[in-house]
Amino acid sequence: MAQPQVRAGFPAYSASLPQRPASDILSSAPPSLFGFTKATSPLGPNRSLQTKASYALYLHIPFCLRKCHYCDFVSYPGRSPQEMAGYCRDLEDEMALVVEEWRPGPAATIYVGGGTPTLLPAPQLERLFKAVEHFFGVEPGAEITVEANPGTVDGRKLKILKAAGVNRLSLGVQSLDDGLLAAMGRIHRRRDVYGAFQEARRAGFDNINVDLIYGLPGQTLKAWKATLKEIVSLEPEHVSCYCLQLEEDTPWGRQAEAGVLSLPGEELELAMYREAREFLAVAGYEHYEISNFARPGYRCHHNIAYWLNMPYLGLGAAAASHWGGRRWQNCRDLAAYHHALAGGRLPREEMEILTPRQMMAETMFMGLRLIEGVDLEDFWRRFGVDAREVYGRELEGLYRAGLLEEREGRLKLTEKGLPLANEVFIRFI
Ligand code: SF4
Repeated sequence: MAQPQVRAGFPAYSASLPQRPASDILSSAPPSLFGFTKATSPLGPNRSLQTKASYALYLHIPFCLRKCHYCDFVSYPGRSPQEMAGYCRDLEDEMALVVEEWRPGPAATIYVGGGTPTLLPAPQLERLFKAVEHFFGVEPGAEITVEANPGTVDGRKLKILKAAGVNRLSLGVQSLDDGLLAAMGRIHRRRDVYGAFQEARRAGFDNINVDLIYGLPGQTLKAWKATLKEIVSLEPEHVSCYCLQLEEDTPWGRQAEAGVLSLPGEELELAMYREAREFLAVAGYEHYEISNFARPGYRCHHNIAYWLNMPYLGLGAAAASHWGGRRWQNCRDLAAYHHALAGGRLPREEMEILTPRQMMAETMFMGLRLIEGVDLEDFWRRFGVDAREVYGRELEGLYRAGLLEEREGRLKLTEKGLPLANEVFIRFI
């Protein structure tokens, strides 16, 4: 997951509960609002990261060789090396402006996503990391992830990334079935996955995530099991399994709308999800978020910052930020992005000041994505109210439906609630 699916323009919330005054919560010192402590961190015992000063930094690289048939991410195919170089210069300009505005201090996690960041030549990526170091600084031990498409990396590029400080690689594998990869419009094939994985190990990466998609057109449970088995034999430290989501404005979305795409259906999707959970658990992966599994000590710090609703700064076209009780998104259009920065302005499209009620709702439904759930004491420390008082009616209904439970000071999805998570989340909006 590159960035959370929380966007500006959230629906309005009813404000029927006792609240602290907005000015109390919307202070200008965002990280101090987030009283997460090591003792309550869901990061796991050896990799606790949350400190009062931590935040997550995201860089969006919106370029791809070509567009996959299901993709509605902000990524532009077929751009020239000159355009990509110009975009990277713009990113540096944005860094300077953002640092001047917020003075955020060193980043605790850095995530370069896309798009296809590894489409950039290695020296350009290297230069971006130097710019981050120069403008923001990097906390000691920070997690630094780059998303890589197996069709766009080789040993040399991976070694340069490693030397530049990247310590986590997220490989967009999606499937190991060449037929499915071709149908998806992916540029890589299964041999590229094996090649990229081996080169990454050779380059010294000891923290590799593999992204997989299930629920693909024509995919059988047997084929999904085979992919899981092969992926586990590669021994990645982290596996993400996402169910295919079809968006309207994509080739597959249009085919589905026209009824000419043969999709597996809900029951089979559920069976695939169950298979992933069971198979990965037996293979030693902890299921720590709805779609994410990690070997002990290898949970993704950057994404956990999103799920804990901590502050994050997103740079680049379409990148979202959440800072100081505000949320905003950069413009998606590359020309508009460049135009703003060339004029010395931040390339923002919209900024929303979050109400305490919104921040509480987001803390609930993002936190419930974590298998360990929402820590009631953290919620109280952060908002000065008990989540059970704020959401008494909603919680009662969810307990009764068997979708949510309170256990050991945490609110969490039940086994029944996990695959129905969206139905739970909607109750908090
Ligand atoms: S590689 Fe990723 S970002 Fe690029 S088109 Fe495919 S799915 Fe979208």
